Amino acid sequence: MRQQTHAVPAVRIDLSNAEQVKKTRTILADYGLNTICDSGSCPNIHECYGSLTATFMVMGDVCTRGCRFCGVKKGLPRKLNDSEPEMVAGAVRELNLAHVVITSVTRDDLDDCGVSHFVETIKKVRELNPGTVIEVLIPDFGGDEGLIETLMQARPDVIGHNLETTAKLHHLIRPEASYSRSLKVLAQVKKSNPEICVKSGIMLGLGENENDVIEVMMDLKEVKCDIITLGQYLRPTGKQVEVKRYVAQEEYESYRITAERMGIPLIAAGTYVRSSYKANEYYKQFIKKRKC
Ligand code: SF4
Repeated sequence: MRQQTHAVPAVRIDLSNAEQVKKTRTILADYGLNTICDSGSCPNIHECYGSLTATFMVMGDVCTRGCRFCGVKKGLPRKLNDSEPEMVAGAVRELNLAHVVITSVTRDDLDDCGVSHFVETIKKVRELNPGTVIEVLIPDFGGDEGLIETLMQARPDVIGHNLETTAKLHHLIRPEASYSRSLKVLAQVKKSNPEICVKSGIMLGLGENENDVIEVMMDLKEVKCDIITLGQYLRPTGKQVEVKRYVAQEEYESYRITAERMGIPLIAAGTYVRSSYKANEYYKQFIKKRKC
C-alpha cells in the first residue's frame, strides 16, 4: 500500500455534553486529581469527559523522562501525595466508573519507580469500587522484573504498556526508553498471568513506514499482546516533534486486517484512537472474543 498524507478529520464536539464535561471537571478538581486527558492535550477530552470518563494520571504532573512526542511537563517531580490512592478511589465512585484507566508519569527518581503507589491505588479503588474493571497503563519501571511482579500481585484486570513508536524511531522519539525493554515488560506480564488482558499501542505519523508498523504488530503478537491500539500522532505544542504525515482511514483498516490475519485478538485503529479511548468497550469486546 502506498503511504500518503491526508487531512485529519475534525474532532466532533457534542455541545449537548457540556454539563457532563463540567461535572467531570468539578469532580476531578474536588479530588485534586490529574488526568492524562488534560496533561497530554488529548483530542478526545470533550467526548470522554462528556461521558463521565477520564484517565487518571497519578504521581504528579511532572515526568522524569523527556519523550519527544509528549506534552506532559518534564523535570524534577514533587513528593508523592500519600492520599492520592484514596482520592482516585473516591472519584471513581463519584463518576460511577464501570472501568477505570489509571496511568502515571514516569518516576525514575523513586527507589521503586512508583510501583507501590500504583499498588496502593489499585487496592483503594478495588475496596471502594469492587465491581469496577481496573486497567493500569504503566511506565517500564526501568524493566525491573521484581517491580513488575509486585504490580502483578495487585491483580489489575488489564495492564497496558505502550511501545509508542516503532523500533526504528525509538531512539529519536523516546531516547530514555527502549523498544526491547518495553517488549520484555509486556512479555513478563503475560507470562506471569496468562489470564490478564495485555494492551499496547503506537502512534502513527512519526516517520514510520508500513513495514515498520507490521514489525511492531509481529513483535506484539510474539509477546502475546491482546489489544493493540494505533492512532494518529498529533503534536501537543510547538515543543514536540513535528507530524510527518496524516494517516488515512484505509491504512488503519489495512493494519486491522493484517493484525486479524496474524491472530492478534483485538486491534483498535483510527485517527483518534488512544490507548485509553473507549477502554471499557474494547475490553468487553476482548472478553467476548476470548469466550468464543
Ligand atoms: S482518549 Fe483517554 S486520554 Fe484521551 S480524553 Fe479519553 S480517556 Fe482521556
